[in-house]
Amino acid sequence: MASVTLNKLSKSYGNTPVLHNIDLHIAHGELVVLVGPSGCGKSTLLRVLCGLEDISSGELRIDADVVNTLSPAERGIAMVFQSYALYPHMNVFKNMAFGLKIQGSSKEDIAQRVQAAAEVLHIDHLLDRLPRELSGGQRQRVAIGRAIVRKPRLFLFDEPLSNLDASLRAKTRIELSRLHRELAATMVYVTHDQVEAMTLGDKIVVLNEGHVQQAGTPLTLYQQPANRFVATFIGSPTINLLPARVLEASSGGVRLRLDDGSQVLALVDGSQLQTGESVEIGLRPEHCRVDASTAHSGSKDTSLHAEIALVEHLGESNLLYLKTDIGQKLIVRGDGNAAVRLGDSVIVRAGPESIYLFRADGTAAPRLRPGNMRSAHVH
Ligand code: ADP
Repeated sequence: MASVTLNKLSKSYGNTPVLHNIDLHIAHGELVVLVGPSGCGKSTLLRVLCGLEDISSGELRIDADVVNTLSPAERGIAMVFQSYALYPHMNVFKNMAFGLKIQGSSKEDIAQRVQAAAEVLHIDHLLDRLPRELSGGQRQRVAIGRAIVRKPRLFLFDEPLSNLDASLRAKTRIELSRLHRELAATMVYVTHDQVEAMTLGDKIVVLNEGHVQQAGTPLTLYQQPANRFVATFIGSPTINLLPARVLEASSGGVRLRLDDGSQVLALVDGSQLQTGESVEIGLRPEHCRVDASTAHSGSKDTSLHAEIALVEHLGESNLLYLKTDIGQKLIVRGDGNAAVRLGDSVIVRAGPESIYLFRADGTAAPRLRPGNMRSAHVH
């Protein structure tokens, strides 16, 4: 298996730039997920990696070799597409064997490789079936099997699960993780689904408009997003954002005033911030608590007066849609058992360690205790 390095890689279609100066290292055996909104350049990046598109500038290396001008066949990469593109008139065995046959592998070698891949994918009992006699999930495995038998240096997956229903998607995701471990394979996986990205990736690369916004572990992106874009893209429901003004800032924390006049203490490094600067604070729905008592808690927690506008019951928890006294909207994840009613006046509280802070240009102030979160609950 291989490592992949992109150095200042750019790609334009005619005069339209699509990928800008991408620097990225994918280690041997790593599963990297590229995630971002539709049109951000994910598929283009995959197509550039496998050689279906030219590189406009910069360098692409697989291990130590510069592969900018190598053809797809010479790169030793296998790509699994969202449309499985199986040959309808060939059975599973022949579909999986086809690429090897073209390469001129021996019959024994083909049979041995197809059998081994089919066993890994638990489809060895389906080798005689035609694609139309398979479920969506089974077809997806055949498509992956076709990639595995070629023993590629690198696997590329382009939204491979998007044609599957939700429960099969979750199951196949677990299968892919297992496969990644068993094959010790280097994999690059594209999705627009942040949940898929969070659960699959060793490393996630968030793209927006052809720029890498941040690359890191799922937990790093969640706890220490580099900017507002990453903070809003990762996490569901989306992080709440409220405008605020800096009252006092130091490397040990920041005191802010919100538009409703209340004060907030944020445990973020404010050494770059100016007094009076306009910023936004971020509150994740799962880090807020809703308190029916309007009494002052006496702590350093943020306290926002709000009214419950809508409750969505999810079973194990509920989502509370709130409107603050000055009309700002907030979402809070609450305890599913709590008796909360529409129209209740409540206080939304959040601890200083849970607050995110974004400057006007979108960059985040580093959080000082990102992993030290009190769990959310409803009183
Ligand atoms: P994603 O996979 O993230 O949805 P794509 O990589 O498919 O995004 O597309 C990125 C951008 O490049 C889009 O704005 C798209 O319109 C543009 N694009 C993609 N393919 C071509 C092409 N062959 N010619 C011109 N523009 C293209």
